[in-house]
Amino acid sequence: MAIERTLSIIKPDATRRNLTGKINAKFEDAGLSFIAQRRLRLTREQAEAFYDVHKERAFFGELVDYMLSGPVVVQVLEGENAVAHHREVMGATNPAQADEGTVRKDFGVDVQENSVHGSDSVENAAKEISFFFSDAEIVG
Ligand code: ADP
Ligand code: MG
Repeated sequence: MAIERTLSIIKPDATRRNLTGKINAKFEDAGLSFIAQRRLRLTREQAEAFYDVHKERAFFGELVDYMLSGPVVVQVLEGENAVAHHREVMGATNPAQADEGTVRKDFGVDVQENSVHGSDSVENAAKEISFFFSDAEIVG
């Protein structure tokens, strides 16, 4: 399997409840390594641009407001098959449908406030990583 990188975000519902460490322990326990990390508040422009793919969806406005509602932690994870593996550990988008032991099952509030973001393809991971990090900020 290939070594990949993926973009992970701890979302505001999770930072608010002080869950960053507990969530990231699941990723580390699954064999993924942190190679970049930053805590920030997204600007509206950043949140709209990041979720541009969803701009026609009914939930877009609410999603952007939620992503602005508190700090986020943006991070790059590296490991074997990291894009798909990270999404497996995250669980399904809707916590009610997520498998036992996943981040969203254990910590997600609802389909919107689902605690984490993860890139959905290697191609999107590269775009999302460069959205937040320069090469010099990624230290493997
Ligand atoms: P994922 O984060 O699992 O890749 P999507 O890309 O489909 O899911 O959606 C992006 C984010 O938009 C979700 O993680 C969630 O925060 C929010 N979202 C998705 N579907 C809904 C919905 N039906 N209602 C409200 N928010 C949603
Ligand atoms: Mg997605």
